Amino acid sequence: MRIEDPLIVGAGPAGCAAAIRLGQAGAAPLLLDRDEEVGDPLCGGFLSWRTAEQLASLGLSPAALGAHRVTRLRLFDGPREAALDLPHAAWGLSRHALDTAMRARALASGAKLEFDAVRAVDGLAVEGRAASYRPQSLFLATGKHDVRGETRPREAKDTALGLRLRLPPTPERLRLLGGAIELHLFPGGYVGIVLQEGGSANLCLAMRKSALAKAGGSPEALFARLAQANPALAARLGDDWRQVRCDTIGAVPYGFIARDTSPGLFRLGDQAAVIPSLAGEGISIALASGAMAAEHWTHGGPAAAPAYQRAFASSARLPVTLASAAWHAAETRLGARAALALARIAPSLVAGFADRARIAAPSLAPR
Ligand SMILES: Cc1cc2nc3c(=O)[nH]c(=O)nc-3n(C[C@H](O)[C@H](O)[C@H](O)COP(=O)(O)OP(=O)(O)OC[C@H]3O[C@@H](n4cnc5c(N)ncnc54)[C@H](O)[C@@H]3O)c2cc1C
Repeated sequence: MRIEDPLIVGAGPAGCAAAIRLGQAGAAPLLLDRDEEVGDPLCGGFLSWRTAEQLASLGLSPAALGAHRVTRLRLFDGPREAALDLPHAAWGLSRHALDTAMRARALASGAKLEFDAVRAVDGLAVEGRAASYRPQSLFLATGKHDVRGETRPREAKDTALGLRLRLPPTPERLRLLGGAIELHLFPGGYVGIVLQEGGSANLCLAMRKSALAKAGGSPEALFARLAQANPALAARLGDDWRQVRCDTIGAVPYGFIARDTSPGLFRLGDQAAVIPSLAGEGISIALASGAMAAEHWTHGGPAAAPAYQRAFASSARLPVTLASAAWHAAETRLGARAALALARIAPSLVAGFADRARIAAPSLAPR
């Protein structure tokens, strides 16, 4: 049994943000991740202006990591299109680049990083594949993956799922996608596309399970069908998408917010709140929760966990509610039409909505 304190499980954006802040506050947290190699987790790779702000406060810059600068939002509903300026500049960056930089920053801030897959959590007892841990404070940051003993509730039927294609750089994609984030809406879901470092395109799709079944049940059949109905999407997919691996994730609990916890257990990132990915704000939520949890721990120790969880739930409520409303509207044909019409008639209203669906950066004591 290892007594490590504080223990952070999951070295994604949430866990790393907590590790950086805790390290800066003089603690020496142990950051545990199941993967020694930083992969490229399934994510749209869109970093909002709020995400960029929070990264800057952790000493990281998307521009310095080679991220693609994004200033326009283009919405598509089949052949119909509307475009508007984003309220502030955003970025496209792969999770491989982001997570690599965040882990390095956590180590530089005094955190230790080790590798073990956690199999179960029982109160504050953590059972890993290689060892057991008994911290006084546990920061649970396993993101999209639940750990036995601390699972999040799921919608009973027609859950949301995510697919992702990483498309290689081509001059045509650079011409079509440069400087913009695109959302292609279709009944039951949407496709988001953004360029990232090196010019590759991240094409990420979130949809209802039933919509995938309707489209033939396989990602290949779905993309072929979407390309047929949407010439703009077909142009972006090009003719090389069939050679690219399609990553998938199932049962994403969009809208979940952890409203309470027990002393010592701090839930972070997707384990604290899951904002519909249409908003492109999940990484920001992860960073904000990591920083806020570390701040509460620094001032109140393990006993501060319930106060942190309630405060974080309260700050996540508005962005999650707005993003959920947008996701539910956009997945219907009528809602998609209305979104495009609004973007054409009142772009500043849509830009204002996009700005409000962001989490407020937590106010932290200066370091
Ligand atoms: C389809 C889709 C598209 C998205 N697009 C965007 C976007 O464009 N922009 C945006 O801001 N957000 C987006 N998101 C949301 C974003 O990906 C998440 O909100 C974000 O990754 C949450 O960060 P996290 O640190 O909580 O978890 P994660 O990024 O999931 O990281 C969790 C870490 O924990 C580790 N881990 C997991 N289980 C264990 C275990 N048992 N033991 C040890 N380690 C473990 C993993 O290896 C990983 O390193 C999207 C989500 C989906 C589903």
